[in-house]
Amino acid sequence: MQGLQIAIVGSGPSGFYAAEALLGAGLDIQIDMFEGLPTPFGLVRSGVAPDHQKLKQPIRVFEEIARSPHFNLVGNVTVGREISVEELQSAYHAIVFACGAQNDRRMNIPGEDLKGSHTATEFVGWYNGHPDYRDRTFDLDQDVAVIIGQGNVAVDICRILMRPVDDLRSSDIAEHALEALSRSKLREVHIVGRRGPVQAKFTTKELRELTSLPGTMSTIEPEHLELSEACNAELASSKSAVAKRNMDVFRSLAENVANDGHRRIRFRFLESPVALLGTERVERLRFVRNQLSGAPFEQVALATEHHEELECGLVFRSIGYKGVPIPGLPFDFARGIVPNKAGRVDNGGAALPGLYVTGWIKRGPSGIIGTNRADSLETVEALLEDLSKSAPAHAPGLASVLPIIERRSGRVVSISDWAVIDGAEVERGSRAGKPREKFTRIGEMLALLSPSEEPGGEVGSSSRQQPPETNIRNSQEPREIPPICEACDKS
Ligand code: NAP
Repeated sequence: MQGLQIAIVGSGPSGFYAAEALLGAGLDIQIDMFEGLPTPFGLVRSGVAPDHQKLKQPIRVFEEIARSPHFNLVGNVTVGREISVEELQSAYHAIVFACGAQNDRRMNIPGEDLKGSHTATEFVGWYNGHPDYRDRTFDLDQDVAVIIGQGNVAVDICRILMRPVDDLRSSDIAEHALEALSRSKLREVHIVGRRGPVQAKFTTKELRELTSLPGTMSTIEPEHLELSEACNAELASSKSAVAKRNMDVFRSLAENVANDGHRRIRFRFLESPVALLGTERVERLRFVRNQLSGAPFEQVALATEHHEELECGLVFRSIGYKGVPIPGLPFDFARGIVPNKAGRVDNGGAALPGLYVTGWIKRGPSGIIGTNRADSLETVEALLEDLSKSAPAHAPGLASVLPIIERRSGRVVSISDWAVIDGAEVERGSRAGKPREKFTRIGEMLALLSPSEEPGGEVGSSSRQQPPETNIRNSQEPREIPPICEACDKS
């Protein structure tokens, strides 16, 4: 196969691992990675918590991939806005969608949109300096917050709320978030699960870290440590190593009694919110008590007659994410994914030629960063198998879509442009003893790339001096791609 032109949509882990697998296939290939923001790396930049810098190490692997002369970043370009899927199809042999799951699931209960009720995405994006969320506000003058959901995102949110703020100062947390958290009056956070402690989705390392935060006491009601037969059967299974370790952590909390000197994290189980109550803003949360029903590993939460209310001023729902439909592609609304078979986009049993998915938009929001490597490899294998069956016709690639993009887009950001933004962030951070101080407004980032901006003019294509191809192309020398780091494979 000669002169393969492949577009990847999304620059998070699954997109970069797809690029890695394509580059590693030893073919004559060109990869163009489209990204809506001027900054690459998706959730590794704007999802991984700032106090977990080690988990950001895959960025080094991604940087090496991006140094390939066969790789372009086409940043600050949203597929579906500046360029359509149909237009991309006319330019590329194949398109791999690696655009993640960008929506939060809703609880669909009264009061969900009251002031003081937030999504995990908003809060995580805010403390990580994502431009879409940097202007959100969270009333940290409140005493009590509730997090609905018991996965690792809930742990991240709770940890950022309760960690002594001085511990965050040397991280890459956004400055506005650090400032707001330093004035926080929160005393208590409740993490609420609709099922029991055996079914909680936390990984043990994250749970241990959260329950060991200095100045914070974690508590659990002893009644939740008394397990039903079905829960004991789940724990006895070899599939339940994480749940067993989690139960050891929960049991170690049984003796804890919160006192005045401590902030408190309270793990609550078998409760579902049924309404957020308040006039102008959230004042109380009403729960229904649940009981578990079903065979081991199939237990679901069923509501009982018992209700209770909790006074709280902040609510975060962290009950998982959902993909967003991509215009021109089929969509499974129930699962929030693009229907696919091994990464081939599937339309009612028929594969749509040249269209592929990987990552959360392919399998749903599960797994750790390293999970995406095998997932993307599967998709790339399917793609290469399909292309090998029919000799691909010539595809014009980026040169043919760039004029369209430039007519519609403000400023296309290349990988060398990103290097300028990256360098400036690292430099700003070093003055504050941080790994980087992120730019949180797109205008600030683009201004770095256009110092000779015409007075009063927009930062846009009119100010671009270089021919498009030169600006897009990565000018750096190729280097060997190192193996995946340990942090990507372990959580
Ligand atoms: P998650 O692990 O799937 O957890 C979602 C939680 O929400 C579960 O407790 C689930 O309970 C609950 N839930 C779902 N629908 C609900 C409803 N209607 N009412 C009440 N509760 C509901 O999702 P996540 O925390 O968003 O994490 C996404 C992925 O990213 C996971 O694979 C996670 O491990 C990963 N992640 C990893 C790290 C890390 O390694 N440090 C950090 C962040 C995220 P049920 O079990 O009853 O459905």
